[in-house]
Amino acid sequence: MSSDAEPGSGGAEATSGLDREGKADRIRELLATEGDAVAANTRGFNEGRYESTGRLDDYEALKEEARSIKEDAIERLPDLIDEVRETVEANGGTVYLADDAADANRYIREVAAERGAERAVKSKSMTSEEIEVNDALAADGVDVVETDLGEWVLQLADEEPSHIVAPAIHKSREGIAELFAERFDPDDPPETAEELTMFARERLGELVEDADLGMTGANFVAADSGTMLLVTSEGNARKTVTATDTHVAVAGVEKLVPTVEEFSPFVELIGRSGTGQDVTSYISTLTPPVDSPVPDFDDDGEPLADGTGDDREFHLVLIDNGRMAMRDDEELKETLYCIRCSACSNACGNFQSVGGHAFGGETYSGGIATGWEAGIEGLDVASEFNDLCTGCSRCVPACPVGIDIPWINTAVRDRINRGEADPSQLDWAFEELVPDEEPGGLDLATRLVGNYATLAKWGHRTAPIANRLADAGPVRAVAERVAGIDRRRDLPEFANESLVEWFEARGGPAVPAAEATREAVVYPDTATNYVDVERGKATVRALEALGVHVRVPALPGSGRPPLSQGMVATAEAAAEDVYAGLAPHVDAGRDVVVVEPSDLATFRREYERFLPPDSHERLADASYDVMEYVFGLLESGGDPAALRAPAGGTGPVASGKRIAYHPHCQARTIGVGEYATAVFERLGYDVRVSETECCGMAGSFGYKSEYYELSMDVGEPLREQFGDTDRVVVAPGTSCTEQLDALLGAAPTHPIEVVAPRE
Ligand code: SF4
Repeated sequence: MSSDAEPGSGGAEATSGLDREGKADRIRELLATEGDAVAANTRGFNEGRYESTGRLDDYEALKEEARSIKEDAIERLPDLIDEVRETVEANGGTVYLADDAADANRYIREVAAERGAERAVKSKSMTSEEIEVNDALAADGVDVVETDLGEWVLQLADEEPSHIVAPAIHKSREGIAELFAERFDPDDPPETAEELTMFARERLGELVEDADLGMTGANFVAADSGTMLLVTSEGNARKTVTATDTHVAVAGVEKLVPTVEEFSPFVELIGRSGTGQDVTSYISTLTPPVDSPVPDFDDDGEPLADGTGDDREFHLVLIDNGRMAMRDDEELKETLYCIRCSACSNACGNFQSVGGHAFGGETYSGGIATGWEAGIEGLDVASEFNDLCTGCSRCVPACPVGIDIPWINTAVRDRINRGEADPSQLDWAFEELVPDEEPGGLDLATRLVGNYATLAKWGHRTAPIANRLADAGPVRAVAERVAGIDRRRDLPEFANESLVEWFEARGGPAVPAAEATREAVVYPDTATNYVDVERGKATVRALEALGVHVRVPALPGSGRPPLSQGMVATAEAAAEDVYAGLAPHVDAGRDVVVVEPSDLATFRREYERFLPPDSHERLADASYDVMEYVFGLLESGGDPAALRAPAGGTGPVASGKRIAYHPHCQARTIGVGEYATAVFERLGYDVRVSETECCGMAGSFGYKSEYYELSMDVGEPLREQFGDTDRVVVAPGTSCTEQLDALLGAAPTHPIEVVAPRE
């Protein structure tokens, strides 16, 4: 058989160059054709990751060790390149540092030509996908055969990988069986997973025996010895290396670490993070050129009898292709710490629904793909899928090297905005509505969402009219056409009286400072102040019931909406304004209580990038999620009887004590998602917590017409869990509330409204 499929020649069509409708169509198609297989596999990997990392004594310490190794290695990269050149040459191999894909391919083609290679066998390597070496060799008539089962399936199907570790994750077993039957017409077509694997193994075995060149990637390369670590599921990398006399290893320069000692934490983490295996099936450490004899497959008796390792050749092709420039780029540098484990893809709600054929670029997929593609291919490629990262941050705790993947997506989005904006346009018509820090000519939808705090203030001032207009069909049609706001979504209804106005009108604090157990400022985030005022009032009531002196000052929006649009300068200005407003309270020893989880996450995470370190630390230390704060008050002697117990009252939980609770994704990331459960249980409620990590709404994401179906699909597991529950559904985030309302047909209750005393 000849591997006559042309790798890299097509396969699934990405969403590149498509308009809103085109993107929506493409996503609908992927949801229908690949979504189920991707969802089942990625969710399985996630469960495995939780179980496997849960068995580690100190997962966090291991991640920190891995991170510090990568930080050090990237810092010393030029020296490590020099060192590995010396050691590999001393071992008898060659090192070639390729500037870019064309340079790398030229070198590899020369090696193949000099060896008269007719067939090359390859183990899985994303870096070789990046340089498209298969196409380059095929142009010279070399038959390139992928030996990784998933890659081989894709080669036969002429498709692109949809996942960086499990490239054929989007294909079902039935689909693979059909493909084999169509391509090989076997007498006894394989059907089960085992039969399919054996079928592939036999055919690949024959192809490997006839190969002249073996190509691998490398997960890590130790500079001081030239030893490389190769991690595979099928052992095909070492077969590829030992069965052929010429080994070409293609590796990005970022794969270098100082010594073999540094492999250790990665061996522990890579399988657990990606596929949820404690240890990946095959872990090979090679110091090429390897010294085992080259087998003579024509000799059935003793294939190794006459061979020696002396005539082996080894070429380490180190690829720059933009990486050294990424190293000097403050925002993209962290991407080089990536060990390509795929945890960020598996953890991502959007990825679980559509996979890498939508959420990916030329080579890489998932959240970190934005960093890779922006650095290697350019912003235009990253811009094709970058907005599929919603900033939910579920990938952050999953990443074994602690990369702030959402921030890389935000920073790249900011660059895309600036590249696409036309500074000559002043946008004077919208100046009052969009008073941001961005250049003129920015996409209107981006600007409107990024200026949500101002829009909400206007909406509240003109509330009855604004709300009526927001409901009017013709207005929604224009909003959909011009700004891409899907008309199937309900828009927020603005309150006539804001939380701050209500608090002033009722006479300010009810508990005098002199009699209070503590003093707190309730942060009036945009949604609580202008839309969901009731949860703000409930916060004030609950805190006062526990003896807290409460203030609700007028403060600016947190900057979360502009951050979600990549409007970094605007978000930074908001951070400075919020800090200026809160600092006097923090100085006075007051706690800052935050009702909206995404705003607390912004204070604790993103403000670190915007504020001086001591300012950030002071604000982060003084700020609490409202349920975290209530929990703390109860732990410090607050009287639970002051709050609403299950059987009391006639409010939304009057029917009983059973609660279905969906914590907010960002609250889970910053470790405050469990306080509501703790408070509920302390008060005697029976709580069932959702297993779904992300509701799919993600701020403005679910409003976008091109992503409406995707957003609903991500929320589907939540509907399955809570759809027919007789429990009271509770969720703290504005986005989760909107999504649960759409999924279940009824808006959930904020946790503080469950436990706060009635008015
Ligand atoms: S960014 Fe982190 S989680 Fe994602 S593939 Fe890289 S190492 Fe794994």
